Amino acid sequence: MSAAAVIVAAGAGMRAGGERPKQYQAIGGRPVLRHTVEAFLGHPGIADVQVVIGEGHESLYDEAVGDLPLPLPVTGGATRQASVARGLEALQGSAPDLVLIHDGARPFVSASVISHVIAHLDRHPAVIPALPVTDTLKRAKGNVVAETVDRTGLWAVQTPQGFRFTAIVEAHERAAAAAGQDFSDDASIAEWAGIEVALIPGAPDNTKVTSAEDIAEADQRLRREMLLALGDIRVGQGFDVHAFGPGDYVTLCGVRIAHDKGLTGHSDADAPLHALTDALLGSIGEGDIGVHFPPSDPQWRGADSGIFLKHAADLIAARHGIIANADLTIVCEAPKISPHVAEMRRHIAEILKIAPERIGVKATTSEMMGFTGRGEGLVAMATATVRLPG
Ligand code: MG
Repeated sequence: MSAAAVIVAAGAGMRAGGERPKQYQAIGGRPVLRHTVEAFLGHPGIADVQVVIGEGHESLYDEAVGDLPLPLPVTGGATRQASVARGLEALQGSAPDLVLIHDGARPFVSASVISHVIAHLDRHPAVIPALPVTDTLKRAKGNVVAETVDRTGLWAVQTPQGFRFTAIVEAHERAAAAAGQDFSDDASIAEWAGIEVALIPGAPDNTKVTSAEDIAEADQRLRREMLLALGDIRVGQGFDVHAFGPGDYVTLCGVRIAHDKGLTGHSDADAPLHALTDALLGSIGEGDIGVHFPPSDPQWRGADSGIFLKHAADLIAARHGIIANADLTIVCEAPKISPHVAEMRRHIAEILKIAPERIGVKATTSEMMGFTGRGEGLVAMATATVRLPG
């Protein structure tokens, strides 16, 4: 039997605060709606995914899921019920046997809940996931308890709610024609239309993201999961030396610093960026900077060493890794580094696309000893921590 999904994301969703409706706010770096849509698109039992959006949300929708293989969204109505009806109408052309109707703001729906709903539609015309109510329930007048409600037989209902397509379409049409009805979910419409609705176990983590606290909690949960998935922790180190020569400035960590000498080298001789590039390449076993950018190649003469650093970062990103931190030490008697540290950290952070607080830049002298002490050249050392999928 063919199954389609209607994802209802038409709410104004402003209870969560923020500049955009909750379904378009980011959790784990991606919009809530994208997580939800991908759960259905990635499920082998679902052939079509029809999203219902709010009026004026077209560009938010495009930004969130515009690159995914989805039909054009339909615009919802004044109520949730009207929005679902429009989503069902949009599926009339493909006429699936089954339809699963799901809240756009439930991004944690699992493949197994989707599978169970589909499987139980074999035996029942309507199936909804639900959890038994475990909290004690009170009915109150204002903020004073009037009575304790017996929770026997009470269930908290989730989505996706599954239905035989023609039955729910007909129930919706009848409900729309009957004035004065206000149904908060599709199972209520089915019940009202005399369709038997079966309960199956829901999932405790299939929660609805409603408030600003829910968004923050969902974001932290996904970030924790992402970090756990990046369990392969690598440390790379790099070392570089460049000699001073004629000139009136040096470039260190991408920052041009006036000096009575320059640094000699094939590129811009930015030793700390070379050391950091080597540390990143080392963390993934990709050789060193000379392998990727041979000094014999004339195109790197005077090159901005940020190019080398970006290349190393791109190789890590291509493996779905992240750079957790980088730490650099520059050894020289002059020029003075400390006035430039903040700008250096910003520059590196921008190239690596991580927060400046994850970059350390330090400087020391060698107490007038050795080649750095005599001002013949400078040394740069770098360490980087990289996390790859485990
Ligand atoms: Mg070098």
